[in-house]
Amino acid sequence: MTIKNAEFICSAAKKNQYPSEGPVEIAFAGRSNVGKSSLINLLTGRRKLAKVSQNPGKTRTINFFNIDDSWRIVDLPGYGYAKVSKAESESWGKMMEDYLENRESLKSVVQLVDCRHEPTAQDVQMLEYLRYYNLAHIVVATKADKLSKNELNKNLAMIKKTLQLGDEKLLAVSALKKTGVDILLDEIGRLING
Ligand code: GDP
Repeated sequence: MTIKNAEFICSAAKKNQYPSEGPVEIAFAGRSNVGKSSLINLLTGRRKLAKVSQNPGKTRTINFFNIDDSWRIVDLPGYGYAKVSKAESESWGKMMEDYLENRESLKSVVQLVDCRHEPTAQDVQMLEYLRYYNLAHIVVATKADKLSKNELNKNLAMIKKTLQLGDEKLLAVSALKKTGVDILLDEIGRLING
């Protein structure tokens, strides 16, 4: 699959700010700083579509993007930033649940994890949540350029084990070196049509 055009639709902190239901939505989730904005920018070929955070943890909205007038990318707020207050983290949870539980257009979730580290408790929780709500998903390990091929393979096995991945797809990408992107786009194409 290829993406020709991508444009920002809106940011939403509440349900009534979502764009109307319609085109299939593929949501991207992951911990703050995992490389989600960089990956969305690379996939869409738009360097500044999703902001690359100078200030991790500051993005507290769900951002919707129109892709080729046929589907949407939904950028979910990052989690796990240490300096977030309890109230903020609760509002994050509510925001995620509102969207993930009830959104009819939501087809699948691309769950990002950092290839260098063991998935965090929140990554594990997120995966459990997706399984519980029967949301189709794939896992993408980001920043693959930071590891040698051997280390990457070792870490992919570790990620698979920690997240207890069964049939779920696990891919590695590097937004910096632009690797793994075509495979990811094809996988997203399958999710959209699946
Ligand atoms: P977000 O908070 O998940 O949206 O993450 P960002 O896209 O803002 O990236 C967080 C930091 O990781 C930034 O400093 C990026 O430049 C860096 N980064 C993102 N993707 C990659 C990658 O593929 N390789 C490397 N080496 N760094 C990356």
